[in-house]
Amino acid sequence: MTTGKTKSPDGRDQEDCCKVPAHPASGRTPREVCPHCGTPGRRVPELTLRSLLTPMAMRRRASGDAFFCAQPECPVVYYGAAGRFEQGDLTVKVHQKDPSPATPVCYCFGHSPESIAQDLRMGGADPAKTISAKVQAGLCACEARNPQGSCCLGNVTKVVQNARAKAPSSAEPLA
Ligand SMILES: [Zn+2]
Repeated sequence: MTTGKTKSPDGRDQEDCCKVPAHPASGRTPREVCPHCGTPGRRVPELTLRSLLTPMAMRRRASGDAFFCAQPECPVVYYGAAGRFEQGDLTVKVHQKDPSPATPVCYCFGHSPESIAQDLRMGGADPAKTISAKVQAGLCACEARNPQGSCCLGNVTKVVQNARAKAPSSAEPLA
């Protein structure tokens, strides 16, 4: 297994498996800058908003695009013509905004930083690889479940790396 991104047969990056379809005009996912923190964010699919906004938030949302702010320090989750929405307007906790170890990082298959650290301690398979296999089998539902509206693998990989950095190395046997 090589490290880094692998290409699928159609040449897309594996991490892009569930990405919002490219904008026909530009060939890229549209981006817009968060009005609160100034970070550019990606457009999220309509299905993501409909799935994850609370009924009260849905009541005040306007028609139009929404973009996801991934900046941890920024309270804004979605912005754009659809309106401005924060963590409390969603039915799930947002990985990027909530440092709690129990907050999901993989929303389709229920992995959190806490569960990933535990899996690694128990010597289980790399969660990024098991998730990747399920994604390739077409079993993920990122658009409907993940607040960022796209595949979690990039985030999971970071969590795995952090967990490995904190845990004592299991590769070196105790003398
Ligand atoms: Zn922001």
